[in-house]
Amino acid sequence: MKYKPVKDRCCLNKKCLDQRKFGEGNIIRHSMYKTRLGRRRRYLCKTCKKTFCSTKGTPYYRLQKSRLDFDEVVQMTVEGVRISSISRIKCFSWNTIASWQYLACQAAGEFNNQNLKDLELIELQADEICTFTGTKKKLIWIFVAIEVWSRIWISKVVGSRNYRNIKTLLNQVIDSCRIVNPFIFTTDGFEPYSWATRNLMSSICLYAQVIKKRRKNRVINVERRLIIGTKSKMEQLLFESEDFSTINTSFIERLNLTIRQGCAYLGRRTAYHSRSKDLLADKLSLQMCYYNFVRPHSALKFGGEIRTPAMQAGLVKKQLSFREIFTSMEILFWWVFIFLRTRVRVEKFAWFST
Ligand SMILES: [Zn+2]
Repeated sequence: MKYKPVKDRCCLNKKCLDQRKFGEGNIIRHSMYKTRLGRRRRYLCKTCKKTFCSTKGTPYYRLQKSRLDFDEVVQMTVEGVRISSISRIKCFSWNTIASWQYLACQAAGEFNNQNLKDLELIELQADEICTFTGTKKKLIWIFVAIEVWSRIWISKVVGSRNYRNIKTLLNQVIDSCRIVNPFIFTTDGFEPYSWATRNLMSSICLYAQVIKKRRKNRVINVERRLIIGTKSKMEQLLFESEDFSTINTSFIERLNLTIRQGCAYLGRRTAYHSRSKDLLADKLSLQMCYYNFVRPHSALKFGGEIRTPAMQAGLVKKQLSFREIFTSMEILFWWVFIFLRTRVRVEKFAWFST
């Protein structure tokens, strides 16, 4: 019996000549095998004569529990539940949850890298969130940028509050966006923003700062400064804008709140915090993927349909699920290498348990 070639699979054998090539006609269905959770498919690569299972190359590979459990753990992670709570809710060990989170974060980061491209930039806002890693003395900042029209979270940088990190953030924005017309860019009054904007985007944007003066934790005065561009051009762009009529940073501040609520590391006055910069950056990649592709945004409601920011930006046509993201072809290549690294890493950080 002759089997039809499978187009949506590729061979991940390092020694194979058709390694990582889709649609070459070398992959066919081989057989079925039994697991505790049901029957699974095996595939055969005709080039290297090796077989592999259907989850190879995804975070679900060699998972001892069901894929549904994995998805639930990831969902709880992005809704701001800490590891020890998830461990008690699901009755899995702390290390299992940590290793699953690591796999999910890596997959989400890769999915972001592959998919957050070619966005149309209309209105940009940037800001930073202050937190700490290890001890409260080690302050660390999370720089974020949002495209206001589609509400898409374009980029994030974790590090100290300096010019270099702001430059990295703006470079990420320029790399992932398509700039057709001059756009409005707004930040707070932190001076390195204006230096970086002058260096990188002075010809393509109108840059303004919003400076809030506070007394006893209340805003008493808001000053709006136009740094790059003319007043008439700014007024014209504000008139054309669908989202706001004055210079503001409300949208990025709202995103900051969403990030704080969704990431357990960033909760205020809690015992739970990140122990390292890399762990925090990984969690934020997962958060970013969830915010852009999975979570419907209540400001993007059109009749009965509530869109995700990625739908509004035209990157995808429907709301994605974690299952679709983790089994997508874009991230398939990575997985073989990452799985091997995970065990070492989780053992190393096992003392994190709180
Ligand atoms: Zn092969």
